[in-house]
Amino acid sequence: MDYINYNLEIDNIKNFLNNIETTKYFESRLIDDLVKHSPKNIYSSNNKFKYVLRKNNYGTRTLYYVAGSYNREYPFNWRNCIKNKHELYDPQYEINLRVRTSFREVIKLGTYSDYSRKHTIYDKNIKKRVSINGCDICHIKERPQIDHHSVFFVDILDSYIKKNNLSYNILYEKYIKFDNNIKRWTLNDNKMLNEWLWFHDQLATYRILCETCNKKKENKAI
Ligand SMILES: [Zn+2]
Repeated sequence: MDYINYNLEIDNIKNFLNNIETTKYFESRLIDDLVKHSPKNIYSSNNKFKYVLRKNNYGTRTLYYVAGSYNREYPFNWRNCIKNKHELYDPQYEINLRVRTSFREVIKLGTYSDYSRKHTIYDKNIKKRVSINGCDICHIKERPQIDHHSVFFVDILDSYIKKNNLSYNILYEKYIKFDNNIKRWTLNDNKMLNEWLWFHDQLATYRILCETCNKKKENKAI
């Protein structure tokens, strides 16, 4: 376990990628070194790798690689390579994270968004949403986030999984998929989507926190 070097390396690659133009292929020994640590074992000494950064609809830049003489681009999760290099990569954690991300996306269809609409307002001057009554802890109005108060999001999800005799691995194998258009993991079963939304909204209570207070809070709800 080497968290210090792990964090340094993450920052290093982030800075490197920030200075790279999108849509142009590039080669990099720095990234080549990470390919060797890929948990998916994509490295082969016969292949030369080249890379490209592409923006999705939300403006997020994703790194892709092309191996050897093939033209097909695959998403390259460089963070996982760094985790793996420092023995911090845990496949079960990655599965749980993908399931949570997919299920978290769904709650935006329910009371979560109602709460946001009721407690935040668009401020024309700064062109951002601000909270009406301020952060529950420090009372500032900028950068509001909706926090699951009293019951954590993950606890609601865990209860749902338990009640339905499911598991993170079953959900991962059968019910979620990576949507290539939006580049996100999503819940791919409408019946489950509606059941989950109903279940979640029965239990969830919210409060507004500013981004800083939300980060400071024990980050149990991913
Ligand atoms: Zn605050």
